[in-house]
Amino acid sequence: MNLSTLATAARTARKSRRAIAELLAPLDQLAADSPNLVANHEARFDAHGGSYELPRYLFVGPRGGDTPIRVGLFAGIHGDEPEGVHALVQFIRLLETRPELAAGYYLSFYPVCNPSGFEDNTRTSRAGKDLNREFWRSSAEPEVRLLEAELRSRQFQGLISLHTDDTSEGFYGYAHGATLAKHLIEPALAAAENYLPRNGLPVIDGFAARRGIICDGYAGILTAPPQLRPRPFEIILETPAGPPAYLKELAFVAALQTILAEYRKFIAYAPNL
Ligand SMILES: [Zn+2]
Repeated sequence: MNLSTLATAARTARKSRRAIAELLAPLDQLAADSPNLVANHEARFDAHGGSYELPRYLFVGPRGGDTPIRVGLFAGIHGDEPEGVHALVQFIRLLETRPELAAGYYLSFYPVCNPSGFEDNTRTSRAGKDLNREFWRSSAEPEVRLLEAELRSRQFQGLISLHTDDTSEGFYGYAHGATLAKHLIEPALAAAENYLPRNGLPVIDGFAARRGIICDGYAGILTAPPQLRPRPFEIILETPAGPPAYLKELAFVAALQTILAEYRKFIAYAPNL
């Protein structure tokens, strides 16, 4: 290949990459004027011959009485699953118009956990790693190390991750961590069912499932620090890949809204139990 061919190839590669800045521009615009939303572009890492950012947004809901409830929301750890990424952007926009939905919460958003994979539209990072099998295993992957540092310092009471399953016809999820997760995910799946069918199969993704809920899971996934006590609730939501984008986003957003509402109820009752 001569130099000009190389230059053309590089340009084509750049063009075919999905733009993260464009995706996040509306959020940054919102954050500039919002009393609730903070954009944080300080988390950076070097990899794949370039400098990358792990975009973070913080949404501080109106005061709910006690200490704010810290929840982390994650999407795009698999770079070829844009549904969750777009859903988090939509959810933040919704919160901006209706902040009361986040009353009592301190929400940390990580909409693009695998930036190079998102750009390339690949499941793995540009290093060829499935980042969602690398957590708490002394991984050398910079994305994982950065996210682990966030998970250690924030000590979330709840974690919600969004994924896409192109082998599933319906919406489903994983409930991990605190036993409570099972009670939060059921109404979340019910809310998503307004837009997408639930996957009711007895086995999903190789795991035993009941009404679209799996309690088992893969090792090495994005999860709270293993030593953290009490265990936070951890919910992974999986949309089928097939339906139109707007339905997938609506289903995710409905599920997220429901989890926040249900957990707030739980926290309010807990002292009386
Ligand atoms: Zn995934």
